[in-house]
Amino acid sequence: LDSPFSFLYLVSIITASMLLYRRGGLIAASGAAILYGTLADLLFYGIIPLPEETLFAPTWWTSSRLYLNLATNFAGFYATALLTSIISEKLQRTSENLAALRALNQNVVNSISSGIITLTDDGTVTFANPAAGEILRQPPADLPGRHVTSLDFVDSDEWEEIVGDLTGSSSVRREKELAVAGETRSVGFALTPLRTIEGASAGYTLIFQDLTEMKALEAELRLKDRMAAVGELSAGIAHEIRNPLAAITGSAQVLRNSGSLTPQEQRLMTIVVKESERLNKSISEFLRFVRPQERRIGSFDVAASLAETLELLGNSVEITERHEIRRSIDPPSCYLVGDGDQIRQVFWNIARNAIQAMPGGGVLAVNAVAADGSYRIAFTDTGRGMDASDKRKLFQPFRTNFPTGTGLGMAISYRIVQDHGGRIDVTSAVGQGTTITVVLPMAPGVGSRASLAIN
Ligand code: ADP
Ligand code: MG
Repeated sequence: LDSPFSFLYLVSIITASMLLYRRGGLIAASGAAILYGTLADLLFYGIIPLPEETLFAPTWWTSSRLYLNLATNFAGFYATALLTSIISEKLQRTSENLAALRALNQNVVNSISSGIITLTDDGTVTFANPAAGEILRQPPADLPGRHVTSLDFVDSDEWEEIVGDLTGSSSVRREKELAVAGETRSVGFALTPLRTIEGASAGYTLIFQDLTEMKALEAELRLKDRMAAVGELSAGIAHEIRNPLAAITGSAQVLRNSGSLTPQEQRLMTIVVKESERLNKSISEFLRFVRPQERRIGSFDVAASLAETLELLGNSVEITERHEIRRSIDPPSCYLVGDGDQIRQVFWNIARNAIQAMPGGGVLAVNAVAADGSYRIAFTDTGRGMDASDKRKLFQPFRTNFPTGTGLGMAISYRIVQDHGGRIDVTSAVGQGTTITVVLPMAPGVGSRASLAIN
């Protein structure tokens, strides 16, 4: 009862509360109370003898003093257990929150579709998220340790300049064409200074997105807009020409047949009529482009249409003995829903372009397959090919490089294929040839989006 070591109970209780929280702390406090109470009672009733030599003079214990002593000690035990466990539970919750926060952060950084790279002050990569690796087509683990200039975003002069700018503004945004795995991709990036909570500089973050698809979509929308504007304007003009033209042709025909003309005059009248008809035909074709005729939707055999078109082309005057048309159509019969006449026109336009691109002769290989719910027809020629600017202009009306061309063939084909829910892909290399692939959905309109992909 007089021992100066009874505070050691508290050490056990604190330890238990810290490691086992409230429950463990209360159990330890109860254990301490039972042990201390038992010991005090045994000593008080003389069941175990008082130590003979105590460090201090023995106290004269009365029963009320004993109970007071026990009560204060017990209160101390439980209070210690409660206080310590409250504090340690709070600490534990904080560290759990921290861990959850860290996991959340990690998840966000890993699953975000933007590339995130952190850099030291001098521009060395310290971290790259999976999207960064995907956009740059490199394993993200290979990126740390490399200098930012080796990632092609910026050269060393630009880096100096951007870092200089950053002291003034909070971030720098740029767009860049990157050569990634042999392809050119447009990437937009933002460089932002990274700071610690205390506000000290901790390098930079580089956040970037692959904008290539978005740009292609934008170009497609622009093309559609332009075609619509051209269409509206010129449909009006074409009609204005057509009506007087019909009157001219009719009058000339009447004059020619009146019998009052000399042979010379009659020959001239024939020219007038013939040329007017030619002009009318051009305008009709043009109107078909700007205001496509009513589609006659039905089931048609796309493979047979293709074979017929190639047959027709094989007998046309443009084919010389130096031209060869190879075809592989598999399956030899395949029914699609749409306007067979219009699709035939598409095949005709594309195949004829291929022949016109090979004035000195060459091979046109036509490959048709049914796969993945669509019918794909690839026209590959060994002609002069197209450069990037030709490719961009391919579907624009009135852009032609062929001597007798009108520049409408591909524009019409584009619109028809689009109406059928399909798309046209183009690959081409100058001097080597061109492949134009028409992809038509087997079930038109089902989840298909008309699109134009140029690569
Ligand atoms: P047109 O045939 O009346 O010139 P098109 O719309 O059919 O009009 O074609 C547009 C242009 O695209 C052509 O003038 C040509 O420069 C280019 N082109 C189309 N197909 C090919 C091809 N297979 N090879 C090379 N250039 C082509
Ligand atoms: Mg053409």
